[in-house]
Amino acid sequence: MEYQLILSSRRKTIALQVSNAKVIVRAPHFVKKAYVDKLIQAKLHWLRQKVAEQEKKSLLIPDFTLKFSGEKLENNPTIYIDGLPHNIFIEFGRESVIHNKCACSLNVVLSLRYKNLDLNSAVILAKVKSQIQCWFKACVEHYVQQKLLVFSQKMSLHPASFKVRKYKARWGSCNSRAELSFNTLLKMLPDWVIDYVIIHELCHLKHMNHSTNFWQLVAKYCPEYQTAKHWLLKNQAHLSWS
Ligand SMILES: [Zn+2]
Repeated sequence: MEYQLILSSRRKTIALQVSNAKVIVRAPHFVKKAYVDKLIQAKLHWLRQKVAEQEKKSLLIPDFTLKFSGEKLENNPTIYIDGLPHNIFIEFGRESVIHNKCACSLNVVLSLRYKNLDLNSAVILAKVKSQIQCWFKACVEHYVQQKLLVFSQKMSLHPASFKVRKYKARWGSCNSRAELSFNTLLKMLPDWVIDYVIIHELCHLKHMNHSTNFWQLVAKYCPEYQTAKHWLLKNQAHLSWS
């Protein structure tokens, strides 16, 4: 089981904690990792239960920090795009650009001036992340704009504006000024699930809550909304890049 170990010179005892469905171990600085591993093994059942409980609690969106853990760029790590895992390939060229030619790979072309750097260096990682984020944002903006036109017409619900940006814990939102916001990470979901998120937010223009009336309205325009919610829950572990 994965965990985060925080060593401290002030601490005298070991504490296990489950926060946001992640295991955190706080221990005095002299404690060896092998010892912590044993402790985790001994508490495995309890920890798994806690993690599962917290995962279920909400439609948590993992932190959008796009960090690679364990996986290195040279091993072509995967990222979810349009609901399917894609391998990331790094290339170098004159122009910084992204190609998504097939349903299983994403080619990130970096400027030639990075060519001499180690593929897993912090500079390259940051560059790759920012390039993918920009591309995600552009794709989602385009998609949401097209779909909002169609759905607003059909539902007779018209938002004042919409924007796409990075959010840590939500796919979309709607405020009392009828402004909608959507998460850049939506690019990781299949179209039909993004459609559910758009319809969900449009329905908030009429009902600013999650009442029975709200869900009835969602169901009217998105009959498969429960399957979409289930897809989000089932795949949430892939919907980050960490
Ligand atoms: Zn809602």
